[in-house]
Amino acid sequence: MSEAIKTDVLIIGAGPCGLFAVFELGLLDIKAHLIDILDKPGGQCAELYPEKPIYDIPGVPMVTGHGLTEALMEQIKPFNPTFHFGEMVEKVEKIGDPGFRVSTDAGKVFECKVVVIAAGGGSFQPKRPPVPGIEAYEGRSVFYAVRKMEQFRDKNLVIVGGGDSALDWTLNLHPLAKRVTLVHRRDDFRAAPHSVEQMRALVSSGQMDLRIGQITGLEGSDGRLSSATIKGNDNAVETIACDTMLPFFGLTMKLGPVAEWGIALENNLVPVETSAFESSVPGIFAIGDINTYPGKIKLILCGFHEGALMAQKAHRYVYPEKRLVFQYTTSSSSLQKKLGVS
Ligand SMILES: Cc1cc2nc3c(=O)[nH]c(=O)nc-3n(C[C@H](O)[C@H](O)[C@H](O)COP(=O)(O)OP(=O)(O)OC[C@H]3O[C@@H](n4cnc5c(N)ncnc54)[C@H](O)[C@@H]3O)c2cc1C
Repeated sequence: MSEAIKTDVLIIGAGPCGLFAVFELGLLDIKAHLIDILDKPGGQCAELYPEKPIYDIPGVPMVTGHGLTEALMEQIKPFNPTFHFGEMVEKVEKIGDPGFRVSTDAGKVFECKVVVIAAGGGSFQPKRPPVPGIEAYEGRSVFYAVRKMEQFRDKNLVIVGGGDSALDWTLNLHPLAKRVTLVHRRDDFRAAPHSVEQMRALVSSGQMDLRIGQITGLEGSDGRLSSATIKGNDNAVETIACDTMLPFFGLTMKLGPVAEWGIALENNLVPVETSAFESSVPGIFAIGDINTYPGKIKLILCGFHEGALMAQKAHRYVYPEKRLVFQYTTSSSSLQKKLGVS
């Protein structure tokens, strides 16, 4: 076993809520390390919708998933958190009162006074459509997320699905791509009605294609796609030329090892009380999408609030002898010093 890395707080998950928790903890002189399975910060914002606009961050009329991640990273800079990317927390063991040993699948071991679970829906994985041989094209011609729209410029795209992601990316990529064909198994879409109307207008004016049916086969070589076979609902079979396919069949959120950490769970979520968002184990908190309590809504702004209250209680565990005096960043010269602004 490697030598344990010691820290006040260990945050599991570097999504928006884990990131903002660093800020709230930092204001109270509490140091944090963060671990994330992904190779970058931002959680769902960075992985699922980096280029989509978010309109409900208080005081920020519009910011993309990527923009919010960048802004949070800038905001927490003064507290110099340490990130451990590409690692999954496997084990959380109680070693003190409170005190925890946390280990990752990369063999790192941490010892901390407080654990903050900000693991969102756990590790999310796109659902793979039931198309024989699709694995051979994944990462070269078949993509389950759009990281950079430019990657799809001048491509002959087949987008598969009938939900918001399929429709949004059809509309967003249609101006860049050489041609877009949307394939959905029935002529009824779950996506926002406005997006469906826009898509139908593009189809009517001949600017893109719509096929109702299912992809039954892919053709190509060395991971490079050349065509896809579609079986229509009338059983007619058609082969269309394409070089890229984007299936949007939703995501499966795999909770992963959280279930084995000795905390109470309810429908794969961590039940918490709402004065500090602490779990059934004192010293283990859960904030953001991973927690549940009466009235919970999975919004980023709720996770930010939860982080602020969590930090107040975490202070008691990290500094049991110190009294916490509530201060505003606007007027406290001591907070401003920590932020490096005075
Ligand atoms: C398409 C889409 C649009 C959205 N739009 C909005 C919006 O407009 N406004 C809004 O408020 N919300 C929106 N949301 C929801 C918002 O993204 C989530 O509420 C938010 O991301 C939750 O943040 P989080 O930090 O709790 O979790 P996440 O963002 O899910 O991050 C959790 C992180 O934990 C990591 N992790 C999980 N398990 C482990 C482990 N065992 N070890 C290490 N790391 C682990 C994951 O890899 C992940 O990076 C949207 C979501 C989607 C999918």
